[in-house]
Formats: sequence, C-alpha cells, structure tokens
Amino acid sequence: ESRETRLRVVLRVRPLTCTETRRGDRRVVHSLGDGAVHVSAARHDATFGFSAVFDAGASQEAVFEGSGMKQLVELAIDGFPCTVFAFGQTGSGKTYTLMGPLTQSETQPATPSLLGLMQRSFAYLLEQSRSRGSDLALSASYLEIYKEQVRDLLSSGPPCALPLRWSKSRGFYVENQLSVDFESLEAIVSLLLQGSQRRRTSAHALNRHSSRSHALLTIHIRSRAVSTSSSGEGPSACPSKQGTLCFVDLAGSERVKETGSSGELSTEANSINRSLLALGHCISLLAKPRGKWTHIPYRDSKLTRLLARSLGGSGITLMVACISPSSHCLSETLSTLHYASRARSVTTRP
Ligand code: ADP
Ligand code: MG
Repeated sequence: ESRETRLRVVLRVRPLTCTETRRGDRRVVHSLGDGAVHVSAARHDATFGFSAVFDAGASQEAVFEGSGMKQLVELAIDGFPCTVFAFGQTGSGKTYTLMGPLTQSETQPATPSLLGLMQRSFAYLLEQSRSRGSDLALSASYLEIYKEQVRDLLSSGPPCALPLRWSKSRGFYVENQLSVDFESLEAIVSLLLQGSQRRRTSAHALNRHSSRSHALLTIHIRSRAVSTSSSGEGPSACPSKQGTLCFVDLAGSERVKETGSSGELSTEANSINRSLLALGHCISLLAKPRGKWTHIPYRDSKLTRLLARSLGGSGITLMVACISPSSHCLSETLSTLHYASRARSVTTRP
C-alpha cells in the first residue's frame, strides 16, 4: 500500500551578478544553516525552512549531491514517476541549476564542474543502470509549453502544436510526441542541447520567449529484467517496470504576482502564464489536508494536466526554488519563498 510522501523542496540562492554588485545592491537573503534562510530588509524580517538551502557558494555538484536528486534517479529506475521542477523569477538561476551556464557556441562543451542537475542525473542514471546490470531501455522526449501550446522540441521542422489527451490507463498524455531512444551520455546530452537550442532560437524571434515558456524533458525508463522462473518453464520476464524522470524548467514566475496581485486577468498575461497561475492554484489546494480536498483543477492549463501525476497522484517530486539574494528582487524573492513553503505541505502517494 502506498504511503503519503511530501514534496521535497530545496532552495538555491544564486550569487549576486556583476550588474547587481555594480549597482550596489544589498544582500537581503542569508542562509542560517540547517535548511533555514533569513530575509531581512526594511519592512521585512522573515525566516523560511526547507529540506536544504544552497547559498551562493554552493557548487553544482553540492546541489546535485544535497538536493535528493540521486535518490530521485534511483526511484525512477525502480519504476516511479519522478519530477524535478525549477521555480523562480526570470534570472534567478533555474536554467543554470538544471543545465549549467549556457555555452556561447554549441561546439564548445560546457566546463564539467558547471554541468547542471540534468547532465549529472543522466550520468548517474547510466552509471546505475550499468552497475545494477539491469536491462534498461531508455528514451527521451522534450516538450515546451508556450502560450498554452504544447510543442515538440525534438522533432525537426517548424514547431507545431501537439494535442494533449486523456485516457483512463495513461492519464493525461501528449499525442504524437517524439520519444528518442538513447544509450549513451553523449546521445542524451546532444538531445538536450538540440532541444534547448530550438527553444532558444525561437527566443530570438519572440522577445523573451524562453523565460515565458515551460520546458519539460522526460526520460522514460523501462526495465526488462529477466528472471528464471521456479516453475521449470524456463526464463520468464519479470513484470516490467516503467519509471519516468521529468525535468521541468518553469517560465519566470514574476507574471504570477503581477496578474495575481492586481486581481485582474489581463488576457495577454493570462494566455502566456495561465499555466503558472493554474499551477499555483493547484498547489495551494493540494497543500490542504487530504480530507479537505475539493476538486483540483488540473484541467485549467496544459502544464497542470501534464504534471497532475507528479503533483497529486502517484509521483515523487522535488522542487528547486531559485532566488536572487539582491535587495532589488525582494518582492519576487518573498513571493517565491512563500510559494515554495506552501508546496512543502503537498503530498503524493507513490
Ligand atoms: P533563469 O533560468 O531563472 O531565468 P538563469 O539560469 O539564466 O536564470 O541565470 C541568470 C544568470 O545568473 C545567468 O547569467 C547565470 O549564468 C547566472 N547564474 C545563475 N545561478 C548562478 C550560480 N549559482 N552561480 C553563478 N552564476 C549563476
Ligand atoms: Mg531560464
């Protein structure tokens, strides 16, 4: 029988950028150790707690080791649907945390020490699969949600919208999405680069596109372990396990507050970030005790439909909240911290 598991929420505070330092911004976020973080500024003084806090000095490796990411990879191999979100305002370090700094040229590989959670997880997954000697079949799909349209980042040709459907056996799924088999680290990293380049190419055409699109890379893990049956009928296949490991680079969260606080649903912001608003809404409803759940409106957006299982169902989820330590970002930082703290009480039944 499945037990309730809480969403694991960790926080990453990036260093002040050159621009912020030059401007003379103050550092308003301080890690207190033991997963606690303190925000102190003119009329604000608050402490928040998380499963772990990574401050400006934390390396990419420290984040990988301390975030629970490795356990998540192991659970995905064991057949669970696992999800990692990076959440925070634009420029807070979501993409850096997931993928590392983006290299100027695609031909020049990124510095290994700066690789993000994704590449480290891929390497760990392949390493685990080899050392366990299990026969894993791996494939990847890569989607983005932009203006409530789901697009395939791996298929060639101009981006076209894919339909999102629901079935009793599969739950919500994207029809006709490409799923590419891979066996090596080089192959999956190249799929990641290919897809994120496609995401970025359109970023030049459509202003600030990438910070307004959600990207979901999913690794599908099927294990086909073969055991020798005791009935003497020769080898028979164990029930095959099918896990997934999904990395979600969410659009910048700043719009949520802008629209939310003014209380008006500007149609433009709504179409761009309907997904993020719906996600916030689902999380606050899911954060209530199970007995008090009302209807959870997953159907309100593409993103929440795709994440329904990770958030409220049988999935296991890690959320990496990203913030800037700068006084300039104070209100966004507080809103991220409140949102992330609320997410800590969301439970699933893996
Ligand atoms: P987001 O994806 O949230 O919009 P980015 O990941 O693009 O933000 O980060 C914004 C900028 O800050 C980039 O130039 C990135 O290289 C830098 N940055 C983010 N996090 C860190 C970090 N932990 N250490 C050093 N630089 C960082
Ligand atoms: Mg980004």
